[in-house]
Amino acid sequence: MRRKPQSKPETVVPAEILEEAKRAMYTDRIKKVCKCSVCGSESSNLGAEPLCWVCRRLKVSAWREIEQQMPDQE
Ligand SMILES: [Zn+2]
Repeated sequence: MRRKPQSKPETVVPAEILEEAKRAMYTDRIKKVCKCSVCGSESSNLGAEPLCWVCRRLKVSAWREIEQQMPDQE
């Protein structure tokens, strides 16, 4: 009697429990996040302004543009 070479372990955690855990994590995250003031999508409360990372990046890049334009105007 020989063993089959493929010793793929069965999923230790049932998919149901995994899904439940994911959902719990997700809802837990939702509780902590606030809505982005610009686009209304979920955003983690990173600073004073509720901005998602997309709008935050857009804003930062906009600031950079302004900063770059400022010296030219003077
Ligand atoms: Zn946003």
